[in-house]
Amino acid sequence: MATRKNTQPKPAGCPDCAGKGEIAETVRVGARKGRATDDRQAAVCLTCLGTGEAPDGEGSP
Ligand SMILES: [Zn+2]
Repeated sequence: MATRKNTQPKPAGCPDCAGKGEIAETVRVGARKGRATDDRQAAVCLTCLGTGEAPDGEGSP
């Protein structure tokens, strides 16, 4: 069996937006009730900030 270098796999993409960089969030109306409507709007994924790449958990904050 050949020994291969353990290379780090590339990030599969942001799990929240599936690598699309944007998400479809439900439009909510009302400041207090936050009633959800059937309307959905595209919004920038806050997890990857629109890059579509999974955020790297390493590194200093
Ligand atoms: Zn994302």
